[in-house]
Amino acid sequence: MSDSTRSEIQLPWGQVRLCERISGALAGGRFPQSLLIHGPKGVGKQSMALWIAASLQCNSEGGPCGTCRSCRLAAHLEHPDIHLHFPMPRPKRASSSAKLRETIEKQRQERLATLRQNPEVVLDEGETTGIYVSAIHAIREEASRRPAMAKRAVFIVSDADRMVPQAASQEAANAFLKLLEEPPLFAYIILTATYPELLLPTIRSRTVSLRIPPLSEDEVTRYLTDELNAPADAARNVARRSEGVVGRAKHLLESDTSESQRSGERLLTAALEEGAEKRYQVASEYSARGARAVLQPALEELRVRLRDVMCASAGAEAAILDPTHLRVLLKDRRVPLTGVIQAMRVVDNALESVTRNINPQSTVTVLLKDMNNAFSGTH
Ligand SMILES: [Zn+2]
Repeated sequence: MSDSTRSEIQLPWGQVRLCERISGALAGGRFPQSLLIHGPKGVGKQSMALWIAASLQCNSEGGPCGTCRSCRLAAHLEHPDIHLHFPMPRPKRASSSAKLRETIEKQRQERLATLRQNPEVVLDEGETTGIYVSAIHAIREEASRRPAMAKRAVFIVSDADRMVPQAASQEAANAFLKLLEEPPLFAYIILTATYPELLLPTIRSRTVSLRIPPLSEDEVTRYLTDELNAPADAARNVARRSEGVVGRAKHLLESDTSESQRSGERLLTAALEEGAEKRYQVASEYSARGARAVLQPALEELRVRLRDVMCASAGAEAAILDPTHLRVLLKDRRVPLTGVIQAMRVVDNALESVTRNINPQSTVTVLLKDMNNAFSGTH
């Protein structure tokens, strides 16, 4: 099959049953017009959104057929009635709001072109991005026109949780709320969010929630061996560290994570030490800007290590990923389970804040202090 006729619409891996449920709702005419897809980063929210969009536009039942004109266009991200919006870097100052909208639309088209080349590309990693009020206005304008080709128009707003933390967020969110409140009959709006709790409650309450669940360790192992041809040992090891998220498993398998592993380890060591000196030293290694690129992978690795501490505290020795290393780290110290759970919450909060425009250095300072308090039971 030549490239121009290739029309694969990937069903999110391991989510067959969820997709069947969705197909059932579509066939029965019970599909909500406003949907919020959420779940951990890398779990397949974007693929699910595209799969649903293709299903809504394809005439056959039971998911997109993959062969009709609509499916072919959808697979190439060229369907005129599937509108894709995503966070983008903050635009430079514009002379007027019309000019600003023009700039944002141009940026969006460039990113779409990049995505068509490589659907798995990570856009704007490390940059501060957001969904701006002018983008929301553009969506509202598109939604006020009849679909170009199909009976329906689908709007995908990826990472909608990033609408909130940016400047002018209130205005953007309110404009969007109006659309969610009264969508035209032909319009379907699909939001994706890693942290749905960051969305305004009024947005959450106007959408039907669809959570993509993490997979089991066995399922992730199977994904790695069957889809990525990973050796069984490596696959098992990576699957254990993936927390059931295939995107994370793929990343762990394919990239060198030794740097972020070291960073995660340094964070945990500093948090466990009694004195504050080490904590300040480690925090000072982080710059005051550019959070996501460096801090996020370090925090994710910290979480994996903390999970080992949790297993040790809970007496679940068999589940510890790296027992030798954990012994060196803890040096006979036994951290109470409630402390580890509290520390885990602290790390999760920090991970959530990384998506906002934060100062990594002060974030790490607070994180280490809070973790230290949690470990010593003084929280
Ligand atoms: Zn089709």
